[in-house]
Amino acid sequence: MIKKIISCLILLSVVFITGCTKKEKEDRDLLSVIKKRGELVVGVKFDSKPFGFIENGKLQGYDIDIAHLLAKRIFGNEKLVRFVEVNASNRISKLNSGEVDMLIATMTISPKRMEVVDFSLPYFYTGQAIMIRKGTDIKTVGDLNGRRVIVVLGTTGEKNIRYFAPDVVLTGYRTYQEGFEAFLQRRAQAMTSDDTILAGFVMDHPEFKILPQRYSQDAYAIAFRKDPQSASLKTEVNLALDELRRKGHLNLLKSRWMPAASDNFKESAGKK
Ligand code: GLU
Repeated sequence: MIKKIISCLILLSVVFITGCTKKEKEDRDLLSVIKKRGELVVGVKFDSKPFGFIENGKLQGYDIDIAHLLAKRIFGNEKLVRFVEVNASNRISKLNSGEVDMLIATMTISPKRMEVVDFSLPYFYTGQAIMIRKGTDIKTVGDLNGRRVIVVLGTTGEKNIRYFAPDVVLTGYRTYQEGFEAFLQRRAQAMTSDDTILAGFVMDHPEFKILPQRYSQDAYAIAFRKDPQSASLKTEVNLALDELRRKGHLNLLKSRWMPAASDNFKESAGKK
């Protein structure tokens, strides 16, 4: 009889422990948390046309559309996304503090960043370029030596430009808005960043142009916290990106936000 009671108790505790563990696991698993919460919280740029920008009071762009497509896959409703503004200097801390579930923010995969965040599959390819005022005598990156160039702090462009033009005089800004405003006010002879972002400025300002050469080959990816709780979310997002690529949706997004008419995309945008 005592044996039977002991076996029963062991069985009960196994059931209890297994049950608890499964429930606890679900409580911590980010994808389950998001499903329960009923909305995806995504860090995006508000100043990086054509990826994440505000025009006519509306937040829009390639990265914004990706977030809506992910919400559609997770909830069956593309509207269930809350957007939080991030920039290149604060995006990793906003992700790692838990303020957002993920970053879809023109973020280039780099070995240094891979030490602090996890990346999805790449969803867009770009390259570093240089924007100048038409009519200036800057023809190549070497001509930037001794000249003032605007960069956005925390970007790959900020890090790479010194390698190509060691004597460049850099002026850094926290946001693209501030950097571009300074460029408009002629506080520098050039601005450097991803060709896609610079092309967003040239779309509205034909007095500027992008030099034909690219100085890097970069891939944009979605960033997640580097913790086990984010693993299933990352898997789900990778499945979604793979499907979006296979079904041609990523190409559709590219033609929507970067019309072929724009010469500035010729160099790198054709890669994908
Ligand atoms: N893609 C570059 C980077 O991740 C620059 C664009 C950005 O500001 O996010 O640093």
